[in-house]
Amino acid sequence: MRTGEAASPIPVPSIDLGAQLREVETDVRAAIDRVLASQRFILGPEGEALEEEVARYAGCAHAVGLSSGTDALLVGLMALGVGPGDEVITTPYTFVATVSPIARLGARAVFVDIEHKTYTLDPAGLTAAITPRTRAIVPVHLFGQMADMRAIHAIADPRGIPVLEDAAQALGATRDAEPIGRGSQGATLSFFPTKNLGAMGDGGMLLTDDEAFAKRVRLLRNHGQETKYVSALLGGNFRLDELQAAILRAKLPYLDGWIARRQDNARRYREAFAAADTRSMWHFELPYEVPGARHVYHQLVVRTPTQVPLREHLATRGITTSVYYPQPMHLAPCFASWGYKVGDFDGAECACHETLALPVHPELPAASLQRVVDEIVSLLRDRP
Ligand SMILES: *Cc1c(COP(=O)(O)O)cnc(C)c1O
Repeated sequence: MRTGEAASPIPVPSIDLGAQLREVETDVRAAIDRVLASQRFILGPEGEALEEEVARYAGCAHAVGLSSGTDALLVGLMALGVGPGDEVITTPYTFVATVSPIARLGARAVFVDIEHKTYTLDPAGLTAAITPRTRAIVPVHLFGQMADMRAIHAIADPRGIPVLEDAAQALGATRDAEPIGRGSQGATLSFFPTKNLGAMGDGGMLLTDDEAFAKRVRLLRNHGQETKYVSALLGGNFRLDELQAAILRAKLPYLDGWIARRQDNARRYREAFAAADTRSMWHFELPYEVPGARHVYHQLVVRTPTQVPLREHLATRGITTSVYYPQPMHLAPCFASWGYKVGDFDGAECACHETLALPVHPELPAASLQRVVDEIVSLLRDRP
C-alpha cells in the first residue's frame, strides 16, 4: 500500500456458500460418494430417506421431494385441481415463482396486500378477495417469518378453501406454536442453494398431513404414472434427484445450528443499532418479530426511505445488500393481462421502494456485522 492510501475494507458479501461448504464438506463428499457407488440417480433410497427426515424435522406426516420450489407450487396447485377460470389468492410482494404457477395453470391471481410490519398477507384483506371462483389461498412466509396462519385459517376453513403455504424461505419457522403447513392442505419448500437449507442445484418439496394429497403429488411428479408407462394423471417430470437428496441429507443436521446463528446475527444487529447514536436517524426500522414466533431469518430486511442511496453507499464500502423485491407482482409485465395497475397495493409497492436486506448468513463475522451497522449509522445520522 502506498502511503496516504486507505486500506480497502474486507468485503462483506450477502451470503458465503464457500464458508458453508468448508463446514459441511466431509459430510457432503461422503453423501455424493454414496450415490456414485449406488449408481441410482432418480427416485431411490436417498430421496425416500430425505422425505422421512424432512417430514420429521418439519413435524408433518408426508413430504414429497420435487424438482424446485417453483415446481412444488405448480404441482401443489395441480393436485388441488386449479385450472382455467379459477382464482388463487396470494400477495403481490413475493418472488415471481409464487405467482407464475397460478398463471401457467390458466388461473388468475387475486392479490391481497401485505401487513406493514411482517410483509406477509394481511388477513384483514382476505375476506373481500374471496369469490365463488377462489380455489386456493397461497400465503407466503416471507424472509423466514410466518404469515398469520391462525387468522387466515379462521377465514379459509369455514368456507372450505384449501391453503397451500409458500414456505420456501421458512423451513423451521413457527407461529402461535405451530410449524409451517399445520392445518393447511400443504406447504412448499425450496432448496435453491441460497435458501437456509440449500442443495447444490435445484430442489424442492411439498409437505402435507393429507395422505391422499401426498399420493397425488407423488403421481404428478412422475408423469402421473401409477405403474411404469401407465399414466393415470396428466403430470410431468418434477422429481428431485438422488445427488441433491443425498447432499440435503448431509446438510439437514446443520440447519438448526445455522438458524440459531442467523437469529444471533439478528440480535447483534439490534444491539449494535441500539448502542449507536441513532437518535437523529429518522425512519429506519429493524425487522419486526411476531411475539412468540420463531423467525428463521432467511433474510434480515430493514426499512428506510433512503433505500437507493443507502444501498449505493454500502456498495462503495464493499458491503453487498439486496432488494427483495424491486417490483411487486401485480406490476410484473408477465402478468399484465390481469390488468392490475400502480396504486392497487400500496403496502407492497411501498415495501419494494423501502426495504433492504442486510447480510445475515450464519458465517457472517461479528466484525463485518459491526461494520455494516457503523456504515449505515454514519450515512443515515443527521440526514434530513
Ligand atoms: C425461492 C422461492 C421460490 C422458488 O423456489 P425455486 O426452488 O427457486 O424454484 C418460491 N417462492 C419463494 C417465496 C421463494 O423465495
